[in-house]
Amino acid sequence: MDYQGILDQIKNKIDCRQLSGEVATYIPELAKVSPDKFGMHLCSTSGDDFFFGDSNEGFSVQSISKVLSLSLALLYEDDKLWERVDVEPSGDPFNSLVQLEYENGIPRNPLINSGALVVCDTLISNLKDPKKEYLEFVIKVAGNPHISYNEKVAESEKANGFNNAAMVNLMKSYGNIHNDVDTVLDFYFHTCSVSMSCKELANTFMIYANHGCLQETGEQVLSVKRTKRINALMQTCGFYDEAGEFSFRVGLPGKSGVGGGIVAIYPNMYSVAVWSPKLNAKGNSTAGMLALEFLTDMTGSSIF
Ligand code: GLN
Repeated sequence: MDYQGILDQIKNKIDCRQLSGEVATYIPELAKVSPDKFGMHLCSTSGDDFFFGDSNEGFSVQSISKVLSLSLALLYEDDKLWERVDVEPSGDPFNSLVQLEYENGIPRNPLINSGALVVCDTLISNLKDPKKEYLEFVIKVAGNPHISYNEKVAESEKANGFNNAAMVNLMKSYGNIHNDVDTVLDFYFHTCSVSMSCKELANTFMIYANHGCLQETGEQVLSVKRTKRINALMQTCGFYDEAGEFSFRVGLPGKSGVGGGIVAIYPNMYSVAVWSPKLNAKGNSTAGMLALEFLTDMTGSSIF
C-alpha cells in the first residue's frame, strides 16, 4: 500500500483554513494554538512511518489520555472497574452532567469526562504516586522518555474546570468517588495536559493495533482480551455524541481530544494520528475527521 502517496493526497485535498470549526477556548491555554496547524503520522505494524505537515509538533492530547488512563486502571482494577463505570455509548456531549444524575452517579463509559474521572479516582487509590506512575506508564507504552505533562495547560484547566468539578462532586455524593475531590481533579487535569506529537501518538497507540504488545520489544503489556475491549470502547464511545458518525465515516476504533488530535487504529495494520485544532460543535477536529475518512476510503482499510 502506498501510504505516503495517499497521505500526500490527503494533505492536498484538505485546506484547513477553508474548513469550519473553532479552536477550544474554555481551556485558555489551548486558545493560544494556531488554528492552521495540520499534521498526520501513520505507523504500520511492519515498522514503516508516513507523515506530513506539523506531525512532529507537540500538542495537548486532552481526552485521548482517557484511553491510556483506562488501560492502566484495568491492570489494577480488572472487572471491578465495571461496577463503577458502564460500557455504553452516552449519546451526550463529553462533559454532560444530565445522565449522571438519573443513573445514580455511574458514568456511561470511561471515555467521557465523568468516566475518566472515576478511572482517575481508582488510579489514585491504587498508586503511591499517581502522577509519576501514570507518566511512567505512558512513557513505557510510547517507548519515549521525553513525554511529559504541560503544567501550564493543567493549571489553565484547573482554574476553569468548574464543569468537571461539578461532576466529581455529584459522583462523590453518590459514593462513586473515593478520594479527595481536588486530588482527583488535579490528577485528571494532568493526564489531559500530556503533550505529544502525531508521531508520538501514533507510536503510542501501536499497542492497540498490536493486541496489547509493544511494537519495539513485543512485550505484552495489555492482555489480548483487554485490548479487544478497549478498542471496542474506542469504537463505540471514542467520539461522544459523534461516535456513530465517526464509525460511519471512518470505520476504525479511535479517540479524539479538544486539543484537536485524533488517533485511530486498524488492528494488525497501522496506527494513525492527525492534528488540526479547529473543532466541530461536538468537540472533534473537523480536518482530522475528514483526513481519516479519506484515509479509510482511499485504502479500503476500515474494520467494516
Ligand atoms: N480536559 C478536557 C475536559 O475535561 C478534555 C475534554 C476532551 O478532550 N474532550 O474538558
